[in-house]
Amino acid sequence: MTAIGHINHVELCSPTSTRRFSLPPIHLFWGSNKENQPIFYYHFFLFHNAFQERCRCNLLPLTTSDWRSILGNMYWKTQWPRVGDPPIATFDANLFWKHGGPLFFGDTWSADVAAGRDNPTSLLPCCCDVQMTTADDEAVHQVTLFYLNLFHVHEEIKAMERLQFKDTFVSRWGNQDILVTHLVEMWDPSAGCTDFKFFSNKKLWRDWLRTLRSVVQDWDGFDSWDWGTFSNVKTLGINSLSLEDFHRLSVRLLAFYIHSFVSRLGIYPSPLLHPPTLAVPSCHHHRRKFGRGVPIFVM
Ligand SMILES: [Zn+2]
Repeated sequence: MTAIGHINHVELCSPTSTRRFSLPPIHLFWGSNKENQPIFYYHFFLFHNAFQERCRCNLLPLTTSDWRSILGNMYWKTQWPRVGDPPIATFDANLFWKHGGPLFFGDTWSADVAAGRDNPTSLLPCCCDVQMTTADDEAVHQVTLFYLNLFHVHEEIKAMERLQFKDTFVSRWGNQDILVTHLVEMWDPSAGCTDFKFFSNKKLWRDWLRTLRSVVQDWDGFDSWDWGTFSNVKTLGINSLSLEDFHRLSVRLLAFYIHSFVSRLGIYPSPLLHPPTLAVPSCHHHRRKFGRGVPIFVM
């Protein structure tokens, strides 16, 4: 609530006609019907690396409706040839990507996929093939969406950096990317920290706050932000803050973060804080829990 109190609604950026996303919006995974949900997760796991590649190549972000048709079979069916007379649709749901799809891959990559020069699919972290039943587990859903949320954070910050540092984005992003990746992966449950209370792990929380400050301290409006009783926030010694001050500074930094997004990009950002969950997507045979030496599944 404190964060909301810091946001002046007259400063909100006017909403754009249709929002586009670098990655599938999380709510699509909640909202799909029972029949579609395994397909959505199947496509998501199978394209795990392809999603990353798509973001790395800065392919055009897509609308919710585009993502829905890509996570399901709808879009891919349109890419398959019709044969015979009268023409009959051909489609193999297991190889849905076989004829490419420029909407997802972009033109060049799509042509490579369709010609068999590139296989866009990924294996599971346990090195087994993705099956339609892989996501048939509540815990796997949770951990998948946990990482998807954090990866949205990464892409949203990238969009903000691109907007605010038009001329220096390319040279600046190299370093920022490392910081942002650190910020979003800090809660990797395999690091052994599953207690999420403030200051249960002082080192981790201080590191989080310091990293968040480094990410946003050059953003527009930082110097003139209402920091309350804090001064010189850019150089403030975070290690020496009392528990109360640590909380207060965290809230003000988060408020600044949220305000930057709603006032500049016209979006409410994906949550930066998200409790870790304790499962990893794997096949039924390899189903295990985090913290037991399984490969880390980080987007
Ligand atoms: Zn396996």
